[in-house]
Amino acid sequence: MTATLPRVPSGHYIDGKWSAAASGRTFAVENPATETLLAEVADGGAEDADRAMRAAAAAQPAWAATAPRERSEILRRAYELIIERTDELATLMTLEMGKPLAEARGEVAYGAEFFRWFAEEAVRIDGGNMLTGDGGKRILVSKVPVGPCVLVTPWNFPLAMGTRKIGPAIAAGCTMVFKPAQLTPLTALALTEILDEAGLPAGVLNVVTTSDAGAVVTPWLEGGAARKLSFTGSTEVGKRLLAQAASTVMRTSMELGGNAPFIVCADADIDAAVEGALVAKLRNMGEACTAANRFYVHSSVVAAFSEKLAQRMSALTVGDGSAEGTDIGPLINAAGLAKVRRLVADAVDRGARPLCGAPNPDDSDGRGHFYPPTVLCEVPDDAELMGTEIFGPVAAITTFEDEDEAITRANDTPWGLVGYLYTRDLDRALQLSDQMEVGMVGLNTGLVSNPAAPFGGVKESGLGREGGRVGIDEYLEYKYIAVATS
Ligand code: NAP
Repeated sequence: MTATLPRVPSGHYIDGKWSAAASGRTFAVENPATETLLAEVADGGAEDADRAMRAAAAAQPAWAATAPRERSEILRRAYELIIERTDELATLMTLEMGKPLAEARGEVAYGAEFFRWFAEEAVRIDGGNMLTGDGGKRILVSKVPVGPCVLVTPWNFPLAMGTRKIGPAIAAGCTMVFKPAQLTPLTALALTEILDEAGLPAGVLNVVTTSDAGAVVTPWLEGGAARKLSFTGSTEVGKRLLAQAASTVMRTSMELGGNAPFIVCADADIDAAVEGALVAKLRNMGEACTAANRFYVHSSVVAAFSEKLAQRMSALTVGDGSAEGTDIGPLINAAGLAKVRRLVADAVDRGARPLCGAPNPDDSDGRGHFYPPTVLCEVPDDAELMGTEIFGPVAAITTFEDEDEAITRANDTPWGLVGYLYTRDLDRALQLSDQMEVGMVGLNTGLVSNPAAPFGGVKESGLGREGGRVGIDEYLEYKYIAVATS
């Protein structure tokens, strides 16, 4: 039985008040497990975007002047409210996005942790003080809020992608306009309600939901009032937004797509590698930027690794994420499902051998966008899924003979978010980690995300880092005063 939708606001949140869209229009939010309507939410346009941005700009000076401890305590209260409402938020996320309830609870804990982390960072913003080389002046350096921020988030982690941006922006003293994904606005609206309850002053956070992202985000980027864009989403859309942000020379943090390699060396602990692969591949049904996309396994261990992985993956239960016992929920929508089907069919056409899953592309769908965990081995490098995000529960395995070859193939992609590596040899581990062109390495682990770590990628996976000690710097500018000494 599908869980009941918790009560959640459905309007825009601007200047501390909830309101309908200026046009009066709404758009539908669906449950991907049942393809039934969950809610109607306000469908914003340029007028709503303008009102939100004016509220953020007006609130900026007073918010920048608040005591760091005050900002810290709002975040801390919001953290506690999120934890108190774990079940409600997890249910919302499962219903609008599909992930199994246990995973949704995990995201609540992970997402809340960004607020606790940045509550602690808000009171540690430091500066500098030194003499010039000739001793003629004193250099006083402080860090100040960058100004009103534009936040745009994807659908795959509806809570954590919001808290990872809102947390440091609040801590730094920035006001915000926030557009959550069209497919999953409900969790973002519930989070907004929590921040309101936690005492966030009016105008600091302004949220506009929409079915027309460009109509809302373009004026924010080109209008001149915003000073920063923080975007998480696809590389394709990210590039477009970077070009728009260039028109007003704003700061940017871009968390974009990935194409993660997962390398299993000849000396790897195969059981540990299979455990890591299950996490790196199946978290969020494979709909994660960090998802292992290509498995490079040494030829001497490929049979053991592939068979064990296929055994574990084929034993998982696929179904409605809100049902007891579900391991793998539905994919987000019909387009996501069609893409996975097409990629698997293409790989099989090119000679890949399915060990489990890989249903016939013509199988009838029924209700819900479900796809079974699939292991493909002997996948050729020219299969389309080796060069694009699969965003589904499909493990594509190929072999290598020597590590230089594995690294060359792993790096042969425009993306560089994360890479995974399994080996028991420390020298090899550090050497290969250095050679991987990525922002993050999972060394003998399939999970790298942590609020205390600087999350982000190189190459076309993005710019800047979220979380860790440096996460708050993305929302701060250096300002220096040259002080004449007498
Ligand atoms: P997406 O299509 O790029 O959308 C991301 C956000 O951008 C959504 O809010 C979307 O609004 C908005 N958007 C789309 N077109 C826009 C436009 N023309 N102007 C302004 N905003 C626009 O990505 P997605 O499908 O939601 O998410 C999956 C992607 O995100 C994957 O590539 C994944 O790797 C990446 N991702 C990266 C990270 C990371 O940390 N590196 C984390 C999670 C996900 P609508 O919802 O209305 O389309």
